[in-house]
Amino acid sequence: MATELTIALAKGRILDETLPLLARAGIEPVDDLNSSRKLVFATSQANIKLVLIRSADVPTYVQYGAADMGVAGKDVLAEHGGEGLYERVDLKIAPCRMMTAGFADRPMPRTRLKVATKYPRITRQFFLEQGRQVELIKLYGSMELAPVVGLADIIVDLVDTGNTLKANGLTPLEHIMDISSRLIVNRASLKMKNQPVKELVGKIEKAVK
Ligand code: AMP
Repeated sequence: MATELTIALAKGRILDETLPLLARAGIEPVDDLNSSRKLVFATSQANIKLVLIRSADVPTYVQYGAADMGVAGKDVLAEHGGEGLYERVDLKIAPCRMMTAGFADRPMPRTRLKVATKYPRITRQFFLEQGRQVELIKLYGSMELAPVVGLADIIVDLVDTGNTLKANGLTPLEHIMDISSRLIVNRASLKMKNQPVKELVGKIEKAVK
């Protein structure tokens, strides 16, 4: 009997671009993932199932082996820390940049810079490496609002076209890292299910090319 494999995916722009890749690797969900309320989906391959979770939870499911593999943005992976998993393939989907952003014409404060972000780990590390002391303000969304209402001096967020920043009068300032989605694999699965996992990773890698 073929080894069971579970792949963790998240709804949204990453899913829309991941499904065609999986289809090229021979894996197609039996139901429509976008319209269904189900969280577990059978696929055209009897031994492979998909689970649909929040994007920030994908690395956690893979870390603990609840999913053998997953697709997550580099931003989510870097914020998670990567314990218990391997990053195997750059899927080159949902590319963007993580940047600091603020008002171009506003002088930086002499006291501690206030930075609003949903990426506290990455932000702390970025400023630590530069020896800059900052006060972190953790938010869960709409970061662009924080400098506008004076909650923070700058933000750390993902920038694609730059339109969201521009619409709020903000400018991208410093580049932190390039982002794209990655295929991640649970460390134990790679050992215990080596052959089927390697085979599937290879097929997805080929689909990307
Ligand atoms: P944009 O206006 O095109 O620069 O897009 C910026 C907005 O979209 C911000 O709210 C970002 O958090 C979000 N965003 C941009 N690219 C991505 C991505 N690849 N994954 C998730 N969110 C993104």
